[in-house]
Amino acid sequence: MTDLTRLSAADLATRLAAGEVSSVEVTQAHLDRIAAVDGDVHAFLHVSADALETAAAVDTDRAAGAPLGELAGVPIAIKDVLCTLDMPSTSGSRILEGWVPPYDATVVARLRAARLVPLGKTNMDEFAMGSSTEHSAFGPTRNPWALDRIPGGSGGGSAAAVSAFEAPIALGSDTGGSIRQPAAVTGSVGVKPTYGGVSRYGAIALASSLDQVGPVSRSVLDAALVHDVIGGHDPRDATSIPDAWPSMAAAARAGQSGEALAGVRVGVVKELDGDGEGFQAGVRQRFTETLDLMAAAGAEIVEVSAPNFEYAIAAYYLILPAEASSNLAKFDSVRFGLRREVAGGTVEDVMAATREAGFGPEVKRRIILGTYALSAGYYDAYYGSAQKVRTLIQRDFASCFEQADVLVSPSAPTTAFRFGEKLADPLAMYLNDVTTIPANLAGVPGMGLPMGLAPEDGLPVGLQIMAPAREDARLYTVGAAVEQLLEANWGGPLWTQAPALG
Ligand code: GLN
Repeated sequence: MTDLTRLSAADLATRLAAGEVSSVEVTQAHLDRIAAVDGDVHAFLHVSADALETAAAVDTDRAAGAPLGELAGVPIAIKDVLCTLDMPSTSGSRILEGWVPPYDATVVARLRAARLVPLGKTNMDEFAMGSSTEHSAFGPTRNPWALDRIPGGSGGGSAAAVSAFEAPIALGSDTGGSIRQPAAVTGSVGVKPTYGGVSRYGAIALASSLDQVGPVSRSVLDAALVHDVIGGHDPRDATSIPDAWPSMAAAARAGQSGEALAGVRVGVVKELDGDGEGFQAGVRQRFTETLDLMAAAGAEIVEVSAPNFEYAIAAYYLILPAEASSNLAKFDSVRFGLRREVAGGTVEDVMAATREAGFGPEVKRRIILGTYALSAGYYDAYYGSAQKVRTLIQRDFASCFEQADVLVSPSAPTTAFRFGEKLADPLAMYLNDVTTIPANLAGVPGMGLPMGLAPEDGLPVGLQIMAPAREDARLYTVGAAVEQLLEANWGGPLWTQAPALG
């Protein structure tokens, strides 16, 4: 019998629509898989108690001939940064432990309206600050490819759930790479949409000018199918783009035609081409091979330069803490979650004790950095300069996109590192985001997809593709085309080479 956990969401959708399997069977298979492996992987912070009931209702409606969306009945995992009415939403923090929101994030409401089946909430670095899930207050997630390694972060839980076959698809959020970098190190696909393309309403904010919610999956088409469900205008998010969007799934399917790369100008960003310091040799090697494959399929490879990308990390680690320190001020012991009483203490004492107990060290570090950067005497020198750099980075993108239709780079400089390797050195951790941060600063969309295994350690390596703002569909077409070329070379999807767990 087919193992239902090894199928893509698109395959599951086809079988569900044809009546070959029920949503209850598909959901049960994934719950069984979670029960079997999540003790080792720890992708989930919470598993839904209602999943089977939700699945049964979809089966009943299908049997009655009700019109259902393409992904109806397909299970999905949800990053714990997203508010869910029926499940706790902690954003990986003690300060929100056990908090059940009074509303659903728009993206979650859209999943429910399209009748997907939420499986549970996935682990993450606290308030999405990190690249390894080691900053989760509830213990790290392990990489299914090598349990002694990190699954990336902050959305390591969603990426690990998908790559360990605990869920076919998942939602993540990406402020500086938290969808694309975990996808890279777990051999998954992940997309950060154009800023404003997917609603942020009900996504617990890290840095509001950078955050975007997006899909995580094992194939480009699956990511596109999820994007179509969650994307589009939301009047509840003031930064949501009001325009209509093309179908991302249609764009991905167009990419599978085999001709899609002919004449596409693929810009290799010189500053991120994998040659520089900090890039692993195997990452560079797979990147070069992938460029050769694309060229053989008719793509025109051009070198482009983005000189200000060099300052992206420095600017990001001022803008992000500034916005985060303001967003996190609402965790004051009064309105949400944790409250530490102080006998005979003032309101300030209670707030201080609560924040001291509720926030982990990385969150405190960034709050201190952010309040400092925003303080009266330093605002222009730090925050103001960082905003100017942001503008320069946006201009670099504009000039690169005059010469190329898409830009490419590795999604992360190295494969999955070992636990503890970068924990003691925040800067080493931050440098992981070198390839992903520019897209957030400019608001352009970026996709990460697997481009093979590094020869030196046999671990997954990711390719990043970026497109101009609002051209997300182009990512799916090019991404699906590259995926098809690579899979033809490998003799199947990369995940078929994953080692068995346990
Ligand atoms: N690793 C980055 C950071 O720690 C990215 C975070 C994110 O995208 N949420 O800020």
